Amino acid sequence: HLPPIYVITPTYARLVQKAELTRLLHTFLLVPALHWILVEDAPHKTSLVSNLLKSSGLSYTHLNMLTAPQRKLQEGEPNWLKPRGVEQRNEGLRWLREDRPSTGGASEQGVVYFADDDNTYSLQLFQEMRSTQKVSVWPVGLVGAMKYESPVVQGGQVVGFHTGWRPSRPFPVDMAGFAVSLRLLLERPEARFHGDAAQGFLESSLLQGLVTVDELEPRADNCTKVLVWHTRTEKPKLKREDVLQAQGQGSDP
Ligand code: UDP
Ligand code: MN
Repeated sequence: HLPPIYVITPTYARLVQKAELTRLLHTFLLVPALHWILVEDAPHKTSLVSNLLKSSGLSYTHLNMLTAPQRKLQEGEPNWLKPRGVEQRNEGLRWLREDRPSTGGASEQGVVYFADDDNTYSLQLFQEMRSTQKVSVWPVGLVGAMKYESPVVQGGQVVGFHTGWRPSRPFPVDMAGFAVSLRLLLERPEARFHGDAAQGFLESSLLQGLVTVDELEPRADNCTKVLVWHTRTEKPKLKREDVLQAQGQGSDP
């Protein structure tokens, strides 16, 4: 039987949210033994997300954790200023460690993946990560102002990283570029994301507590295939909507 894949996704309310979550959900429905941990960046669970999950047919856990106001990226601030989704991913980790239904032994089998709500995921990616022993890694497309970033593999071992930016980071990998075994996360209860980590060090802040670079398990044909893309969705323009609104003729909310 397949070890389950636990996918942790932070999400927040904005116009494209339902579209993003629908796209993601329809990918995940095609993956066997997947449990979606969807964590809303909100003071309470919204009915939009609740209804979407209820009618999804997926195995899921619905959580919420509001980003502290001083940590929240404000409208107009450059997006490198503060990391996003940190407290939500940590809340997902807390659920896995403390609240996940467990009978011990075999139920500790599993793989944990952090999937942002706007990226694009190939089904093959989930096959690749399923066999993760400690931490598995692979290339991520369209990230870091490059066509892709990737671990560099020699003789089946990660020996470095193809990245255009701060290669000195302990683990210069994107959030979408690795998966962790559930067992390892349970063995290291202190490991988590540090929201105060310097720019680009968020992934390292978790991975440093789990593995060393030589222990990383390359996937996707020794990191020669791109199976996930760091796509970003354009913010919808509402110029006409705003005009109509001012005339009292805006769309039904
Ligand atoms: N996110 C969040 N709260 C926010 C901003 C973002 O929970 O205030 C989530 C978002 O839905 C996504 C993840 O955090 O799943 C990463 O955010 P984003 O995609 O904006 O980051 P980027 O692609 O710019 O790194
Ligand atoms: Mn994104």
